Amino acid sequence: MGNVALQWGPTAALLAASGYFLLLVLVVRRRGLSGATEQWFAAYLVLSVVWTVAWALSTQWGWIKPWVADLAYSLSVYTAAFFSPMLAVLTLNFLPRRGAKEVAFLGLLWIIAIVLVERSAVETPGDRAALDFLRLVGWIGFLVGSIAMTTAGYVRLRRPLHRNRVLYWLVALILIALGEALHYSGNGAVGQFGLPLRLLGAMMMAYSIVTYSLPDLKSVGRRTLLQVSVTLVRAFLFLAAIVGAVAVFQLLGRKTLNADPFPWLIIVVGAVAALIFAVLQTPIQNVVAGVAERLLFGPGYDASRALRNYSQSVSNILHIERLARVAIETIADALDVDRGGLLHITARDDGGADVRVIPGLGDNSAMNVAFAPDSPVLQALQDTQRPLTQYDIDMLPEFRSMDPEERQWQWALDVEVYVPIHAKRTLIGALTLGAKRTGEPYHAQDLDVLNTLAGQTAVALENARLFDDQRRLNQEVSQLNEELITANMRLEKLDKAKTDFLNITSHELRTPLTQVRGYADILGEMVEDGEFNQPKMLNISNRISRAADRLDSIYSAMFDVSAIGVDALQLRMEPVKPVQFVTQAVEKWQAALDQRQQSLVVFGIAELPYLDGDLARLVQAFSNLVNNAIKFTPDGGRIEVWGRLVQGPEPVIEIVIADSGVGIDPGDHDMIFEKFYRASSIDLHSTGDTKFMGGGPGLGLPIAKGVIEGHGGRIWVESEGYDEEACPGSRFHVLLPLRRGGADPDWVSRQLRKTRPLTGLAKRLVTRDGQNDKKGSG
Ligand code: ADP
Repeated sequence: MGNVALQWGPTAALLAASGYFLLLVLVVRRRGLSGATEQWFAAYLVLSVVWTVAWALSTQWGWIKPWVADLAYSLSVYTAAFFSPMLAVLTLNFLPRRGAKEVAFLGLLWIIAIVLVERSAVETPGDRAALDFLRLVGWIGFLVGSIAMTTAGYVRLRRPLHRNRVLYWLVALILIALGEALHYSGNGAVGQFGLPLRLLGAMMMAYSIVTYSLPDLKSVGRRTLLQVSVTLVRAFLFLAAIVGAVAVFQLLGRKTLNADPFPWLIIVVGAVAALIFAVLQTPIQNVVAGVAERLLFGPGYDASRALRNYSQSVSNILHIERLARVAIETIADALDVDRGGLLHITARDDGGADVRVIPGLGDNSAMNVAFAPDSPVLQALQDTQRPLTQYDIDMLPEFRSMDPEERQWQWALDVEVYVPIHAKRTLIGALTLGAKRTGEPYHAQDLDVLNTLAGQTAVALENARLFDDQRRLNQEVSQLNEELITANMRLEKLDKAKTDFLNITSHELRTPLTQVRGYADILGEMVEDGEFNQPKMLNISNRISRAADRLDSIYSAMFDVSAIGVDALQLRMEPVKPVQFVTQAVEKWQAALDQRQQSLVVFGIAELPYLDGDLARLVQAFSNLVNNAIKFTPDGGRIEVWGRLVQGPEPVIEIVIADSGVGIDPGDHDMIFEKFYRASSIDLHSTGDTKFMGGGPGLGLPIAKGVIEGHGGRIWVESEGYDEEACPGSRFHVLLPLRRGGADPDWVSRQLRKTRPLTGLAKRLVTRDGQNDKKGSG
């Protein structure tokens, strides 16, 4: 035995060394040293070459020169120390996992420890044992760690092709570990297998690093098992035939022992036995092979039936969503897949494509995306007529440049294979399928079948697409139609407002004008008659001046509103307190409130902080709001003005003018802020600016809105509807930022409208009445 080891050991080592060298050449030529995995593996191979040669020199060729043997021995010991940490780093890079740097550092520490212990060791058996122990612990630690990480990776992965790659690595690691263990065990007979096993492991590693499409290791195993079992059965049959024939011969031989031999009988028996064997052998073997195949590979599927089923199911479907569902369900049935969908791909002018994700089976969180023109996945789908697997995308170098967002989208989509659908050579979609339930990868036959199915989907998808476009067009048209109708209604309302305006202004202007003329006539007559009644004349001149005031106010309102229309409203900003303009706006209408026996309550305003504003304009705006509240609230009604600071990114003041009046129809909530628009029929309006339902030129709210928006604020109204009997009331909300441009009032108003339910004035008063801080007259 020792002799064999002597002769075979160095030869095996040199063979192994050349094996490592060949692997090195292969890796460098096929992949270059581009990635960390390739670089570490190349280093690993170089060290392996050095190690095996040094080992051979040290153990076998010491007779050349003793110092050569010594040097070679040290070299073999030190190079060997690198192997297990390197394998751990390699494994981390391959998987890929984080922590390679840390493990490399740990390995370095371990090697330094070995060197230090070795240097300081006195050559006693105890020291040697300690050193060997240190080596052994590190070696086991790094190798077991690598194997454990790889096993965890294998268990964690769901995609079969990715799993297969990791399985190669796992087997390689185990082979290397086993090889090194055998080699160092020193057992001459079994130890011989150490180096070849280690080389075999390195070969598998090189194979899995260099090759993208690794044959399915599990299938290879099963196929081997199948072959072995069929061969065994055949061997058994042969054996049975031979044993049977021999038994028959013996039987015949014994009977004819004393008689003349009948050689022809022996021939006949032999021929019959051979015939029986020949007839039985094939069917038995087939049955065994069939059973074994079913046991090992599970039931297959009938491709032609799947194809027939598919074309029957999808050919007449017009709805794209239904098409996706039926197509994927049919495929899933045949291939035992649990998820999938359809990508609807539309080319863009810039060379990219828009992708709509249409769910088919299983849940899916991927959104629609836009592929860039240089997207490698888009190009692959366009150029090849073959299915593209996620494994290809993850492994092949041409997909490395992929946009990270696109990669994320693929993770969300979580499919195993993309089957492009082409119509007249343009890419119009893709079937996407998840992993098979059995955990099997898609075999070449599956991909062929899928390709054919994609071809059959093309026509159906084209039809569905046309149908879908048509449907969407119809939707757009009816949407446009609706918008047109709304716009038209708005125009009609505005048109009516203009006509109303003519009637109203002629009325509004004529009334004071007629009064002026009438009183002027009376004055004239009085002068003619020589009547100089002083109180009467004073009265007349008062009335003339009131009518002139009215004319003036209408004229100014029209002037203001036209200024707002051309954005020419001049604001003189200064720090003002809300309590100032609210008080002034309310006081202006004190007499009218008394006369109409309405109560007006103000609260929460006094605490509000200063803001940048134009006092006169703000008084005008709030005065218009209070005026409206008085006009559209019946005698004896109630009006509230309350305010608060709305906290947010930037604080905003909210002031609400609420009344218990007739209310406003929701359909008019926007229109009333338009110039000349008046919600209720103009016939209802009486003249006089404080009378119930008193008429006006329809300019109060547009002016208020112009002033408030000029301050960077917003105004809107809330009201359940118009009802003169029930009087649901209206609430005008005004938002004013503390500084112009400070806060975004649109945002604040959206928040307020979202969070606050509509509450009636009366209801709110019940809860807030106790806290009133200032009361108007009532
Ligand atoms: P005017 O008061 O001159 O008619 P406005 O622009 O001030 O014009 O108001 C427009 C319309 O909005 C009014 O004609 C009225 O129909 C409605 N309106 C305004 N404020 C109220 C309110 N507080 N209650 C009910 N309706 C109102």
